[in-house]
Amino acid sequence: MNIALIAHDKKKPDMINFAIAYTEILKGHRLFATGTTGKKISEATGLNIHRFRSGPLGGDQQIGALIATNEMDLIIFLRDPLTAQPHEPDIIALMRLCDVYQVPLATNLGGAEILIRALDEGYFNWRDILKENEKNDKGNE
Ligand code: PGA
Repeated sequence: MNIALIAHDKKKPDMINFAIAYTEILKGHRLFATGTTGKKISEATGLNIHRFRSGPLGGDQQIGALIATNEMDLIIFLRDPLTAQPHEPDIIALMRLCDVYQVPLATNLGGAEILIRALDEGYFNWRDILKENEKNDKGNE
């Protein structure tokens, strides 16, 4: 599965601890992240992560573009609800696209833990079926 990891500055320590705790699961998937989040996770865990721009410089929108083409299967976005973000419109847009495309999204550690365990149990396999159907539909156009 393709997993996007994003954490606002005050949530980066939580994200790093999460990635350390679940390295064994995460390493079986393709990982993507906004710039600084990705750098910190790979430094802490050695995980291979495709890094986009930093969030405030368009990274959220780059991930959003992949949600819109159904190429993202899980978004873990540890948001800081207590600090104003300069790129608030991009954050809202990313979450909106998750809702448009029914892409599982966790915005806090509690949800992230449940989803990563569900991923490991195979509860995300419907995503492969959906993507396969989409490919077939395109082929029939
Ligand atoms: P960052 O971006 O990983 O580059 O810090 C995340 C954000 O603040 O949206």
